[in-house]
Amino acid sequence: MRRRKTETGWSKINGMRLCVFLLLSALLPPSSLAALDRGADGKFHQRRSAHFRLLQDVDIDHRTGRGGSRQFEQAVIEALEDAFRQVHKKLDIRPRGAVDVVVYDPAVFDGTYSDQFRFSTVGFYDGVIHVRGDVEVNRRLVRTLHHEYFHAALDAVSARGHVPAWLNEGLAEWFENLAIGKRRLSSAEYAYLSQANRLDRWVPLSVLSQPTFAGLDNESATLAYLQSYAMIEYLVRHHGEHRLRRFMRKLVRGARLEWLLKREYRVSLAELEANLRAEL
Ligand SMILES: [Zn+2]
Repeated sequence: MRRRKTETGWSKINGMRLCVFLLLSALLPPSSLAALDRGADGKFHQRRSAHFRLLQDVDIDHRTGRGGSRQFEQAVIEALEDAFRQVHKKLDIRPRGAVDVVVYDPAVFDGTYSDQFRFSTVGFYDGVIHVRGDVEVNRRLVRTLHHEYFHAALDAVSARGHVPAWLNEGLAEWFENLAIGKRRLSSAEYAYLSQANRLDRWVPLSVLSQPTFAGLDNESATLAYLQSYAMIEYLVRHHGEHRLRRFMRKLVRGARLEWLLKREYRVSLAELEANLRAEL
């Protein structure tokens, strides 16, 4: 699940949106593509690619030509296939079957889902990727597609409830940032985390270790997502991507998280958190 966020920094926390990873049936009825309401223009367009089935209903005036809905669908598919390649390359994770993706007209998405979550969202995954669309595939939409795809890929290879929210959301954030060439905390994110640490507004590990952040309020969710991203960024910065790949390979095969953190990173979860906070 991805919250709405501004591209200008973390000082403006109100009105931002993230996305939410939902355990199936946690909040919404099970997804059924056949049960989708009529789209913005009354009809969802369908596209297939090697690894995705796409349905989209963004209210774009024309079908063909520059800026048309066909071109938009092609750009969405390209972003999704890029997300597939990145997650496979970095973590050796890939779903066996095709992943279903629904891109909604922004007004339809907001009207349908705005009251389903306690914080404002631009996408969620509940067995199907649901994304708030746009009339073009801009940076924000690319980030959302990469973020949600990671949830879908991890869900396809891991036992339900085995991966805590901090790890699932932290990696989803890491991949969406990589998609736009960002590998580190921005100075605004760093400042926001430092202030939360200093004022002791830190979201505790017991909350970060829940299966999903879907129940958090807006401010707690903002911090929970950022802390989760910072923990992954810390692990990669200190130990590299190769270690992360080995860690995730063992985790999806069923290794217990605390045991695996000790084995691969020589820390407990509490020590990882303490090390991160000491850096801030
Ligand atoms: Zn998410």
